[in-house]
Parts: sequence; C-alpha cells; structure tokens
Amino acid sequence: MSPRDATQKYTPSPDGLNALFYAEISAAGRLRAQRCDTCTAMQHPPRYRCGSCGAIGWSWADSAGAGTAVSWATTHRDVGLGWVAELPYTTLIVELDEGFQVIGALRDANYKDLRIGTRVDAHVEPVSESFARIWFTMRQPS
Ligand SMILES: [Zn+2]
Repeated sequence: MSPRDATQKYTPSPDGLNALFYAEISAAGRLRAQRCDTCTAMQHPPRYRCGSCGAIGWSWADSAGAGTAVSWATTHRDVGLGWVAELPYTTLIVELDEGFQVIGALRDANYKDLRIGTRVDAHVEPVSESFARIWFTMRQPS
C-alpha cells in the first residue's frame, strides 16, 4: 500500500458487492441498484439476498435518481486537503423513490436550505472504472 497524496481527494477502493455496485454506476454514469428478480424490490447497499423476500437472484436496474433528503451532516473543517475547496460540504442520506437509501454529497445548493423531505436528484460522477462519486442537487420547486 502506497501512501496517498493528502492534497488529492480520497478515492475509496470498494470490495465485495460494493465493488460491483461502484463499477456498475461508474460504467453507466447514472444511479443503479440491485433489483430482486423475484419480488422486484430495489435495495442498497448491495446484499447477496433480497431484504424484502430473501431470494438470491438479482439484477442491476436503473434508478430515476429522484428522492427526498432524510438526514445530513455538514463538514466545515477540512479532513483532507483535497476537499478544502468544497468546504463547507454536506453529506446526505436520500430515500430514492424506488424505496432504497443512498449516501452522497450536496452540490450546487446551500445546505441551509435543506429540510427533511427536500426533493433532490442524484448524479453519478465516474472517477475511475471502479469508483464513482454520488452527488445530489436540490430539485427546483415547480
Ligand atoms: Zn425480493
């Protein structure tokens, strides 16, 4: 393991089913998740069995990327020099309309405008073949 450059944004190296998930969304450039071949429930994080019916078979399926903010935390101090330009940044948990939750960061919005239930859209930014960052933008009121 080589020492990482603290001036660069940290890029995780997912393993197991998480590695498959990140490779899938990185290649697709959009949010996808496991969908049970038996009951069609979608789930995240990926698991070997369906959390709804216990079946083993599953496939990747697109998410529309629309959801609501459930919880969040805003970071005001740098935890790595690669993220200094992003401060303050907000990491949030979003309940996608398909019924599963994903963690990502807020972009192009003021975290002070977030409320529980704020409508957001997911965006996937491929970083490599094995990792992609997930971002959320606030949906404009219509
Ligand atoms: Zn199922």
